[in-house]
Amino acid sequence: MLSSDTGTVHIIGAGLAGLAAAVQLSGAGRRIVVHEATAYAGGRCRSYYDQQSGMTIDNGTHLVLSGNHAVQSFARSIGSAAGLQGPAAAEFQFVDFADSAQWTLRFGDSRFPWWIFDKGRRVPQTGVLDYLPLARLACASADRPIGRVMACTGALYKRLLEPLLLAALNIEPPEGSAKLAGTLIRETLALGGKACRPLLAREGLGPVFVEPALALLAARGVAVAFEDELVALHVDGPRVTRLQFAKHTMALAEGDSVILAVPPWAAEGLVPGLTAPNEFRGIVNAHFRIDPPAQMPPMLGVINGTAQWIFAHPGRISVTVSDAGALFAQPRLDLAQALWCDVARVSGLPEALPPWQIVRERRATFAATPEQNRRRPQAQTSWRNLWLAGDWTDTGLPATLESAIRSGYRAAELAQNIRIAA
Ligand SMILES: Cc1cc2nc3c(=O)[nH]c(=O)nc-3n(C[C@H](O)[C@H](O)[C@H](O)COP(=O)(O)OP(=O)(O)OC[C@H]3O[C@@H](n4cnc5c(N)ncnc54)[C@H](O)[C@@H]3O)c2cc1C
Repeated sequence: MLSSDTGTVHIIGAGLAGLAAAVQLSGAGRRIVVHEATAYAGGRCRSYYDQQSGMTIDNGTHLVLSGNHAVQSFARSIGSAAGLQGPAAAEFQFVDFADSAQWTLRFGDSRFPWWIFDKGRRVPQTGVLDYLPLARLACASADRPIGRVMACTGALYKRLLEPLLLAALNIEPPEGSAKLAGTLIRETLALGGKACRPLLAREGLGPVFVEPALALLAARGVAVAFEDELVALHVDGPRVTRLQFAKHTMALAEGDSVILAVPPWAAEGLVPGLTAPNEFRGIVNAHFRIDPPAQMPPMLGVINGTAQWIFAHPGRISVTVSDAGALFAQPRLDLAQALWCDVARVSGLPEALPPWQIVRERRATFAATPEQNRRRPQAQTSWRNLWLAGDWTDTGLPATLESAIRSGYRAAELAQNIRIAA
């Protein structure tokens, strides 16, 4: 049985991993306190009002697939599942700027990939045998770069695998981890269209993932301490005994425990001897304040453009570029203009730049290479009252919301078990 005289769980970091752990543990009746370094929750998944464009924007459009079961269970548990919206079927529209070809990929609901055998449904200029590398990737066990498992050339690669893997792994696919790609394929494409419906937080990341979680935590009496940065963890023998924050220090009682849900670069400075991913890849997002034309698809994959994905939201068009290192040195205005050019081309909107904002996240995710993947630690640590969470811990998935939330659930489960055993 749970009781209120057991220790407190201190959750460090109010990103999605920390929030998922907090929601899970508070639902189980645990006493918890969340400590967040900044003045806001959500971490790398957040919405905010932007003066320059005059609208509320997300740091980046976050795409999830219907096969991401932890994301959906989290949204259900905080009452915001209806905010994750997408088409009734797994459909992806593409345009190739090289030859202006346009097509819609329709996976169909069957687990058997009938769409591959239907010339009208598969990627233009591809034949059935071109799809065999997908099976090879799905079965990848030893971790090697994708470029050594399959040829990263040809129409299927350019028009399907490159955009999907680049978006999911946030790395140029040839250097990406075949093992991570394989897990992804097994959890989505291999399960058929039911697991591949694209879902977006149309009202914004804050209203879907962050604000409802904070409201639920508040209703459960959970304190979230903002601007409360952890600067050191003190350990003594098998346990963490003291938490040193920038503005205060806290001694931990015997039953108290800690879930460290901070990014890897912060965790490495806090946990003695921790090995964690230490190479990162950036993502660039552009947001334009303008009404999209009625015929514009809600989500469009662009091949051979500067933009990779274009999203049409009410009153706003957003563009995403993954593994966007090359765009970080470009002047902001030039970049906004280049991306808007791509939007104007597909939407028929005038070339004059509407109000805009560019968000460049340099360390959006760890670099999903086999080497970096091997640096991911388990949730358990050498200390019996300290667990790690975050998209970068060893969840077997690329650094995504699904990975972050699963890691938070896992850390919560471990914290819960240890308490029962204590
Ligand atoms: C631009 C962009 C686009 C993305 N697109 C997608 C997408 O389309 N689909 C998808 O699934 N995923 C996407 N992701 C990845 C997704 O956002 C992350 O996987 C997820 O948000 C990571 O959550 P987290 O809780 O592990 O880490 P974080 O969000 O980094 O949270 C860590 C928290 O810890 C806090 N913190 C740090 N140090 C301390 C300290 N010392 N003390 C207290 N608090 C501290 C931080 O302020 C932060 O709030 C994208 C990410 C970015 C940046």
